[in-house]
Amino acid sequence: MTGQADPDLSAACIDSHCHLQSLDASEREEALAGARARGLRGFLVPCIVLDDAPLLLELCEEHDDVWCSIGVHPHHADTWKRGDLERVADYAQHPKVVAIGECGLDFFYDNSPRATQERVMREQWELAVDLGLPVIVHNRDSNEAMCEVFRRPEFDELVADFHSFAGGLPMAEEVLEQGAYLGISGMVTFKRADNVREVLPITPRDRILVETDTPYLAPVPYRGKPNRPAYVVEVAHRLAAEWGWSVEETSAQTNENFYRLFPKARLSAPSQSS
Ligand SMILES: [Zn+2]
Repeated sequence: MTGQADPDLSAACIDSHCHLQSLDASEREEALAGARARGLRGFLVPCIVLDDAPLLLELCEEHDDVWCSIGVHPHHADTWKRGDLERVADYAQHPKVVAIGECGLDFFYDNSPRATQERVMREQWELAVDLGLPVIVHNRDSNEAMCEVFRRPEFDELVADFHSFAGGLPMAEEVLEQGAYLGISGMVTFKRADNVREVLPITPRDRILVETDTPYLAPVPYRGKPNRPAYVVEVAHRLAAEWGWSVEETSAQTNENFYRLFPKARLSAPSQSS
C-alpha cells in the first residue's frame, strides 16, 4: 500500500492517531518505513483494549518515533472490569505513554450499553485529571451526551484531543471554548465532508492535529483502501490548502501543537523533531 504513495509528496508531520496494532508485524514495519520515507516525524498509537498494552509498549520501546496512549475504546466499554483503572494507571507510568484513551462514546454502533460507555469514559477522564495526562476522545453520534459530561466542573482541567473530529460547528465551538484540540483526519479530503471542513475557519491553528486513524478513513486518492500513516501527508496538504499556508508551515504548526498537547512526547522526542 505504502509503496503506491506518491513519493514526490511529503510532509514532516506527526500522525497523531494510527492503530498500528491492527496491522500484522510485517505490514507494520512496511507502514512505518513508508511513512518515514514521506517525511513523517512521529506516530501516536492509541490503545483500544488493555490486552493490546504490552504490544504498544513494545512498539514504543523499539521505535524512537512511536508513542502510545492507554485506555479502553467505547466499543469495548463492556469489557471494563474491577482493577482495570489501576492497570491503566500503572501503564501510564511508562515514559512513552503520553495520553489516556482512546475513550469516549459511540452511539452510532452502540457496541456497549450507553450508560456503560459513559461510566467507563468518566472513570478514565477522572484518572487523566489525577495523573495530569491528556485524553484522546472518540465521539460518534453522541455530541449531546459528550458535551454534557465534558462541561462538568470536575473536567475543567481535562485536556482533550477530539480525534477525527466530525461533530460539526456547535460542538466544535463548545469544546474549543473549553480548551480542546481537534484531530483532522482523511475525511477532510472527502468531497461530502463539509461538516469536517466547516470547523476549520473557527478553529485556532494552534488547536489542530493531523491524523490518519489507520487502518480506517484513508484520504483521497486512497479512499476505500486500507489507510496507512504515510497518507497523513495528504491530510497535511489539504489542511495547508484550506489554511493558505505551505505544507512546511502547516506541519511545523501541527507538530508544535502535538508536543504542547502531549508534553510527555516532547521528553522522548527523536532528535530531528522540535
Ligand atoms: Zn482510533
